[in-house]
Amino acid sequence: MARIVQKYGGTSVGSIERIEAVAERVIRTCQAGHAVVVVVSAMAGETNRLIGLAHEVDAQPNRRELDVLASAGEQISSALLAMALIRRGHPAISLLADQVGIATNNRFGRARITHVATERLEEELEQGRVVIVAGYQGRDPDNNITTLGRGGTDTTAVAVAEALGADECQIFTDVDGVYTTDPRVISEARKLDQIAFDEMLEMASLGAKVLQIRAVEMAYTRQVPLRVLSSFDEGTGTLITNKESAMNQAVTGIACQKDEALITFVGVPFSPMMAAKILQPLGDADIEIDMVIQNPMANAQMDFSFTVQQNEFTRAMDVLTPHIESIGAQSIETNPNLVKLSLVGVGMKSHSGVAAKAFEALGHANIAIRLIATSEIKISMLIEEKYMTLGMQVLHDTFELEKAPKIAD
Ligand code: ASP
Ligand code: MG
Repeated sequence: MARIVQKYGGTSVGSIERIEAVAERVIRTCQAGHAVVVVVSAMAGETNRLIGLAHEVDAQPNRRELDVLASAGEQISSALLAMALIRRGHPAISLLADQVGIATNNRFGRARITHVATERLEEELEQGRVVIVAGYQGRDPDNNITTLGRGGTDTTAVAVAEALGADECQIFTDVDGVYTTDPRVISEARKLDQIAFDEMLEMASLGAKVLQIRAVEMAYTRQVPLRVLSSFDEGTGTLITNKESAMNQAVTGIACQKDEALITFVGVPFSPMMAAKILQPLGDADIEIDMVIQNPMANAQMDFSFTVQQNEFTRAMDVLTPHIESIGAQSIETNPNLVKLSLVGVGMKSHSGVAAKAFEALGHANIAIRLIATSEIKISMLIEEKYMTLGMQVLHDTFELEKAPKIAD
């Protein structure tokens, strides 16, 4: 008998009909002989609705009270699911985070879980009940209700799974797993049977938003086996694992980050402090930069390029323009319509020539690469937004990601 934590997201419990379907699936898992703890999100749209109500009362609602309100959606869905199970004759009980003993720090709206008590959970499991835990919420040291940040139910599920020593934490969502790339853009995108945690973190932070990134990090560091599955169809989903895959392939997937804007300072005097000097005003204005490249030339000058998010571009330019003269740049060139494509794969550590192959393929398709950044398991390329789909297609084809990889001996 295995111990399994199942998390159902907002769309999975989005209607009474969906909640009934979740109840059926939970019962099937129990019938397979497993002990099940379920962690639920609020019904789809509910958290937004509650936060909207708060803003009707006050544009800047009191943070403590906002958490009392925002956490309410999960109370509703957890009780409804418990009822659906009980009506089917299956023992079940819903518990709020406070009743379980999910302790957090006191940062309202983005609290971090510090401890999950297991006594009550163990007692209920002992009684043969399915325990349904309200996700996204916690209790701070002063006994206030807290919430964990949007999408925080994933984190609750991982924390509960770790505390209980669960064999697997299953995240049920509206997609059936993690794909080689966005299947809405590339029809040949293939569902991955497994992906390494490192890869998942890159894919998630680069825009493949299947799981809350904090939950993936937590599962990674605490060694909780994580699986993403669809609550709408049967299937084994994607297992996110610590085992570096035995797959004989360099590239696992392609992430795509839209909304990149490129800013280049042309012909600035090259000095050790120059990069810091150029970027300082952005740091002061709390504008995040993503890719950076500096290119010193023989004449003691350099071009200095970096990217910011498109929606920060105008603000970035406002902040930078007054400094152009003091920095001594000849001009500033900009391109606010770019996307970043990233090849991701732990296999890159042991395969060479991946970058050259990618650049060549994009070159053949006449797609110019504006900026390149690499890490051990990733190669990112900045290209024109209008070539996004073509670029993804070319890379997907070049690395034959539509084909299931052969397992290495
Ligand atoms: N209900 C919360 C939200 O909408 C938490 C979650 O769904 O994970 O962000
Ligand atoms: Mg979610």
